[in-house]
Amino acid sequence: SKVKEMSAEVVDSNPYSRLMALQRMGIVENYERIRDFSVAIVGIGGVGSVSAEMLTRCGIGRLLLYDYDTVELANMNRLFFRPEQVGMTKTDAAVQTLSEINPDVVLESYSLNITTVKGFEVFMESLRRQNPKNSVRDDARSAGVDLVLSCVDNYEARMVVNQACNELNQTWIESGVSEDAVSGHIQLLIPGETACFACAPPLVVASGVDERTLKREGVCAASLPTTMGVVAGLLVQNALKFLLKFGEVSPYLGYNSLKDFFPTMEMRPNPQCSNSACLERQKEYLLAKPVRDALAKAK
Ligand code: ATP
Ligand code: ZN
Repeated sequence: SKVKEMSAEVVDSNPYSRLMALQRMGIVENYERIRDFSVAIVGIGGVGSVSAEMLTRCGIGRLLLYDYDTVELANMNRLFFRPEQVGMTKTDAAVQTLSEINPDVVLESYSLNITTVKGFEVFMESLRRQNPKNSVRDDARSAGVDLVLSCVDNYEARMVVNQACNELNQTWIESGVSEDAVSGHIQLLIPGETACFACAPPLVVASGVDERTLKREGVCAASLPTTMGVVAGLLVQNALKFLLKFGEVSPYLGYNSLKDFFPTMEMRPNPQCSNSACLERQKEYLLAKPVRDALAKAK
């Protein structure tokens, strides 16, 4: 039949052809740009590992992976890691699997704790290093990555990612899943432009939703591959929109699985933020307002 003929013509064995179809259909202007981008993922657990796999299958240029933990049997209720990887560092196990899925992705494994002095140093240094595949950038930023995804499960580590990104003027997306495993969120943080993690930590946001997405020390948290998979999907979908410039990137998106409710909101930076790098970025953002207005007018 005609339909069969048409699909036989369109579908070939190259995994990229399905992605390139996004361009033919007018969703994305230039899908191939994906190969130029570097994304750092902090925390290769239930959300981070799945996000890394999605970006790998999408053909991302470079992935920097950070985690201090090793794979345990207790992780098997989540996606991605396999029983034979028990005992390996999560970052090495991830590199093993991801390089088999897509050998074109440049993968960097950092098995370290970003909250230690040494770990933070290596973290910062790796974020600054320019992508060897992409030495000429179209913007002059201090960071060598295009986006940081935070997939850690504790407040301290989030505050450290916040510190690094404020210092580097680096846009990042934070994610979290609640202790009871039935809700989660993602939040876009653009230094100076939106609230940083210290401006308005989710715990003090009087939104009435999602207040349990920060895990407490010593509490045996529940976890579900479903909620983590949904949050990873929301996270990477918004990362793709941010990088490839299509659709709208959600400033904050909650996920309440019990009601299938997805609240959104926007958070402005706090002029009294306790983070001094955040205050510097806020000043720069205000100073650049006339330039932004002129550019917007010219469009
Ligand atoms: P659980 O706490 O439920 O046993 P988990 O520790 O694997 O599981 P996830 O929510 O699945 O938690 O993933 C969070 C990931 O973030 C973990 O792999 C953890 O090792 C990593 N992580 C947390 N804090 C840091 C940190 N300071 N430096 C590096 N990695 C971190
Ligand atoms: Zn702030």
